[in-house]
Amino acid sequence: MNIAVIGTGYVGLVTGAGLADFGNDVICVDINEKKIEALKAGKIPIYEPGLDAIVAKNVTEGRLEFTTDLAGAIRSARAIFIAVGTPPLPDGSADLRYVADVARSIAKYMEGPKLIITKSTVPIGTGRMIEGIIEESEHKHPASVVSNPEFLREGSAIEDFMKPDRVVIGASDEESVALMKEIYAPLYSLAIPFVVTNVESAELIKYAANGFLATKISFINEVAVLCEKLGGDVQDVARGMGLDHRIGPKFLQAGPGYGGSCFPKDSSSLADISRKCDYTFEIIESVIRVNDQIKARMVEKVDQAVGGAAGKTIGVLGLAFKPETDDMRDSPSLPLIEGLQSLGATVRAYDPQAMDAARGMFENLTFCDDAYSTAQGCDAIVLCTEWNEFRALNLERLKQALKKPVLVDLRNIYDPARVRAAGFEYTSVGRAAEVRFHEEAGS
Ligand code: NAD
Repeated sequence: MNIAVIGTGYVGLVTGAGLADFGNDVICVDINEKKIEALKAGKIPIYEPGLDAIVAKNVTEGRLEFTTDLAGAIRSARAIFIAVGTPPLPDGSADLRYVADVARSIAKYMEGPKLIITKSTVPIGTGRMIEGIIEESEHKHPASVVSNPEFLREGSAIEDFMKPDRVVIGASDEESVALMKEIYAPLYSLAIPFVVTNVESAELIKYAANGFLATKISFINEVAVLCEKLGGDVQDVARGMGLDHRIGPKFLQAGPGYGGSCFPKDSSSLADISRKCDYTFEIIESVIRVNDQIKARMVEKVDQAVGGAAGKTIGVLGLAFKPETDDMRDSPSLPLIEGLQSLGATVRAYDPQAMDAARGMFENLTFCDDAYSTAQGCDAIVLCTEWNEFRALNLERLKQALKKPVLVDLRNIYDPARVRAAGFEYTSVGRAAEVRFHEEAGS
C-alpha cells in the first residue's frame, strides 16, 4: 500500500522504516529540512540501534523515501500516518498544534479517499477533532480516521515495532480495520494480538498503559524510600513482588524517577484529560507528585554523600533518560545536575550518545570524553544512566581519578559489597538492608 508517514522523529522514522520492511511503499515527510537532507544522504539523525540498517535496506530496495513535500506525499498516499510530536503545554495538556496542522494539510491536499491514522499519542477526542477538520474542508473525498497508538521503547524501537506485544486499532468502520490489517499483514500472520476497538478506547489505551507503567515506577521508588528508612533492600523486595505473576518483574527497578519523552508528558496529559471531564484521577496526580519528590531526593542523596555539595566537584555518568538512546527529553539528569549546581557544586558529565543533544540544555556543565576523565578531581561520581559501559568500570582507575572515592549509584547496578571492598563510600537507592547486613556481618 502507498503510505505517507508525517513526522520523521523517533516514532515516525521507525514506523516508516518498519512499514516499508513489511512490504509497503512508504514516503516519510518532515518539515525539518536538515533532517530530510540527512536522511536522503543516508545519515540517521537520531541514535537508535539497528535503525540505520533497516532504513538503508528499504531505501535500496525502493520502498522507502524521504521528502519535505507534504502536498505530494498526501496526494500519493492511500494511508497517512500522523507521527508528529505532541509535547506538553505548561498546564500539562498535550499540545495538538502539530497534529491539527497536519490535519489541515491533509484536508487541503487530498485528492482521493484517505485513511488517516494517528500514531502520535493524542488525547481522547483527537480522532474526532481530525474528522471535524476534514469535514469542514471543501473536498469531496471520503476520509476515515483511525487511532493506532505506538508502544515502542527508544533503544529497542525496531524490535518493538517489528514484534509488538499487540497492535491497537481504534476505528469506526470495517473497511478501515481491513486496511490496517493489510498494512500490518506480516504481524497478523505472526499471530500478534490485534485489539480492535473504537477510536476513543484506542486513544485511552495508550494513556492508560503509560500511566500504569509510571505508577509502577513511582510505587517501587516509594518502596525504596521505605527500605532506606526501615532497613530493607528494594532489589529483594522488588524480586519478591515481581515473582508474583499478577505483578510481574518489569518496571520495578528503583531509580532516580521516570523521565523521557513519554511518561512525564503522558501522565500529565492523562491528569489534564481527567480534569477536563470533571474527574480528578487521584492515582495519576500522586504518581506525578511522587516522581517530582523522587527527583528532588536524588539531589539530596548526592548532597549528603559529599557532605554538602557547595564548592564540590561532582561527575555525572549518563545524561540520556535511559541507555541506548540520545533522547534528553525530561531526563532525570536535568533536575539532578541543575539541583547540584544550584547548591553550589561544579558538575562534569559524560554520556556515550546524548552529549550533542545535551549541550544546549545546561549552563556551566563540563562535557568529558569518558567515565575516567569525568571522575578526574571530583569529590564524587554519580551514576545516572545505566549504559553498559558503566556497568563494569575499573574501580581502581576510577578511584585514582577521583579526589574522594565516593560513588553514588542511582541505578543500583553495582554490588555494594564489591564497591566498598574496593575502598569506595557507596550510596545507592533503597538498599539500606545491605549496609546493615554487612556492618553486622563484619562486627
Ligand atoms: P519527535 O519530536 O522525535 O518527532 C516529531 C517530528 O515531527 C519532528 O521531526 C518534527 O519536525 C515533525 N513535524 C512537526 N510538525 C510537522 C508537520 N506539520 N509536518 C511534518 N513533520 C512535522 O517525536 P517522537 O518522539 O517521534 O514522538 C512522536 C509522537 O509519538 C508523540 O506523540 C509521542 O508521544 C509518541 N510516541 C513517542 C514514543 C517515543 O518513544 N519517542 C513512543 C510512543 C509514542
